[in-house]
Amino acid sequence: MILKGRIFHFLDKGNIDNPENSFEYIEKGGLVISGEKIIDIGEFNKIILQYPNYEVIDHKNNIIFPGFIDLHNHFPQVQVIGSYGTQLLEWLRKYTFPEESKFISKDYSKQQAKKFIKLLISNGTTTSVSFCSVHKESVNALFEEASKKNMCMIAGKVMMDRNAPKNLLDTPQTSFQDTQDLISKWHKKNRNFYAITPRFAITSSPEQLKLAGDLSNSNPTCYIQTHLSENRDEIEYTLSLYPKFTHYLDIYLKNGIVNERSLMGHSIHLNDDEISIFNQTRAVAVHCPTSNLFLGSGLFPFEKLYNSNVKLGISTDVGGGTSYSMLNTLDAAYKIQQFRNFSLNPKYSFYWSTLGNAKSLGLEDEIGSFKKGSFADIIVLDSSSDMVSKIRMETCETLAEELFILQTLGGAHSIKSVYIAGKLLL
Ligand SMILES: [Zn+2]
Repeated sequence: MILKGRIFHFLDKGNIDNPENSFEYIEKGGLVISGEKIIDIGEFNKIILQYPNYEVIDHKNNIIFPGFIDLHNHFPQVQVIGSYGTQLLEWLRKYTFPEESKFISKDYSKQQAKKFIKLLISNGTTTSVSFCSVHKESVNALFEEASKKNMCMIAGKVMMDRNAPKNLLDTPQTSFQDTQDLISKWHKKNRNFYAITPRFAITSSPEQLKLAGDLSNSNPTCYIQTHLSENRDEIEYTLSLYPKFTHYLDIYLKNGIVNERSLMGHSIHLNDDEISIFNQTRAVAVHCPTSNLFLGSGLFPFEKLYNSNVKLGISTDVGGGTSYSMLNTLDAAYKIQQFRNFSLNPKYSFYWSTLGNAKSLGLEDEIGSFKKGSFADIIVLDSSSDMVSKIRMETCETLAEELFILQTLGGAHSIKSVYIAGKLLL
């Protein structure tokens, strides 16, 4: 089929100062899909001559854009989002751990997985990197649901053997064995990838972190995801549990879980040594803006990390985060940088949440753009989907302005259609 409309995607490196040359925008475009993949792109008038027998789906004045990639979120927190009155450590104790303990049930895991995937798709997210609960069943449920949609899902069972309720604890040995089993079952099956997932240093003993490092070593194509330097109390507590280490990142580094496949959620309060380790190892600092505002965690040092050539990701961190929408997430990222006297360029933000995140995963040949041969993971954006944006769009003059309106005023209501691997799902 051919999708007709305003086609927009990023080609290469998003440059914060000069994003002008890094994208392709075709006002009257045609995007050609065969099976699961994108096979061609160009001016509609020319494309239709080359593919005369293809079905044309006209998206009119809407923007045809790559599906969003959410680099960090928590699938067992569908029922935790929007929980009142706490910061990180108390929020975990009061809301998150009790909810996550329900995922021992296969049926409950399945129900929530269905809802979670539905929420992702309705918000235009076509690739997700997700923490599951400590239970293997939660991982099976999520990958099973993602496989039904032929969606790119990167996920793992949290490894946690201390400082949580007893019914949420594994042991170093069981977490190692369960993770290894799940890798064999799911990694690189359909469009799934496994992420080795020690929750964070507070809930992992030194022995468990060491085994996470061993798993990473023996499974060199798996990702690693964890949390780092989210809030001041967390950092202080962490260092008290690991007194021999010079800083938070040092704990992960010396246990072998910091490399180019590592996704470090939050990464807010970093010292210069930690920043240079990020730079050297090519680990990814994953920004979670709505969560950082909601839990009062801190203001992500975007400019400093960008200028230090650190690989950066962006994500919702649902349920600490308050929206499944990457548009709302970009909006919050912009607002956080306003506190730091820096105005994030909307073109960079749209790059960041698609091709930028794809590059952080090393999947830029498969997702994140309309490069020929990549999966047809596509969303259709309507910039005038509610009364406020419709009226505001009356005076909109440039694409950059339109993107900024979309991220500031848009949300789930801006997502008109979603295709995953060439199949219309919304
Ligand atoms: Zn998180």
